[in-house]
Amino acid sequence: MDCWNASCLAPTTGAAPQTFAAALQFFAAAQCLATERLIPDADVKNFTTFDFIIVGAGTAGCVLANRLSAVPEWNILLIEAGDDAPVEATIPDLDIFIIGTKYDWKYLTAKNGITNGANINESINWPRGKMMGGSSNINNMIYIQGNDQDYQNWVNLDFDEFDFIIVGAGTAGCVLANRLSAVPEWNILLIEAGDDAPVEANVPDLDSFLLGSKYDWNYLTTKNGITNGANINESISWPRGKIMGGSSSINSMIYIQGNDHDFQNWVNLGNAEWSVAESNQCIFREDGVATM
Ligand SMILES: Cc1cc2nc3c(=O)[nH]c(=O)nc-3n(C[C@H](O)[C@H](O)[C@H](O)COP(=O)(O)OP(=O)(O)OC[C@H]3O[C@@H](n4cnc5c(N)ncnc54)[C@H](O)[C@@H]3O)c2cc1C
Repeated sequence: MDCWNASCLAPTTGAAPQTFAAALQFFAAAQCLATERLIPDADVKNFTTFDFIIVGAGTAGCVLANRLSAVPEWNILLIEAGDDAPVEATIPDLDIFIIGTKYDWKYLTAKNGITNGANINESINWPRGKMMGGSSNINNMIYIQGNDQDYQNWVNLDFDEFDFIIVGAGTAGCVLANRLSAVPEWNILLIEAGDDAPVEANVPDLDSFLLGSKYDWNYLTTKNGITNGANINESISWPRGKIMGGSSSINSMIYIQGNDHDFQNWVNLGNAEWSVAESNQCIFREDGVATM
């Protein structure tokens, strides 16, 4: 792509024409930043396997996909809900033409009784990029180098480093942490919002003592005009474990082996490793599971 970046002669003297000429030159030079070709979509076939699937080709997602793809044998799928970015996305300060369009998720802030009191519904626009490049393609392209002291503060904090950080020590999180820790040289951090589980969590059917307690997130369903019409606010409690072990620590501990037919269906769809025999090896590897 040819870039026009020649110096312009000012048409006349004085601040206004010079500013105008400088602006024209700036936008013309900015065309040099425009990507020559759009990145082609991947031709993803059913049952293709990937080493990493990144949801969101925004600022962080794109950098992550780029860094991971430095390992040639890794197959990476980067999923983005939005379209390719339009040309305005590559020109500084043209974000005003993109905000509120199909390239913007068009969020509105919720009324909170404190901010935006003068606005309709006490709400303002909250733009977020819905396109390749995410919000970095809907921003002003202002770049400011971080403050040296902030970096130094992080150095001074002397952080531990982890190969994996798992948020939520629930059913899935604990199994994942357990499996990853089979590789001795990996350092894994498992973060849980709730406390250690009390003794009731180990006894079948004692979950009723934990529901509604500090070990439960104590969610309530929202009124939807269809269900729970006879309840106060048309809402019922929706327990979820806030505890080591997650919902498996506040559940009834009823265990039912999956239906063979379901496993076989997954095999028939092309997932050879999901057969009953293969899956049972993983299921029975978990301590305490026994057939009756
Ligand atoms: C009351 C009840 C009874 C049930 N009975 C049975 C049963 O008898 N048999 C059965 O097979 N299944 C039962 N289930 C279902 C089963 O327990 C769940 O499907 C399963 O535990 C869900 O696992 P999960 O890993 O997806 O989520 P969870 O196990 O809920 O794990 C999520 C974890 O993430 C943590 N967390 C969330 N946000 C954060 C954050 N920001 N920072 C840190 N941590 C965070 C939570 O505290 C929680 O520990 C029951 C569920 C409930 C609620």
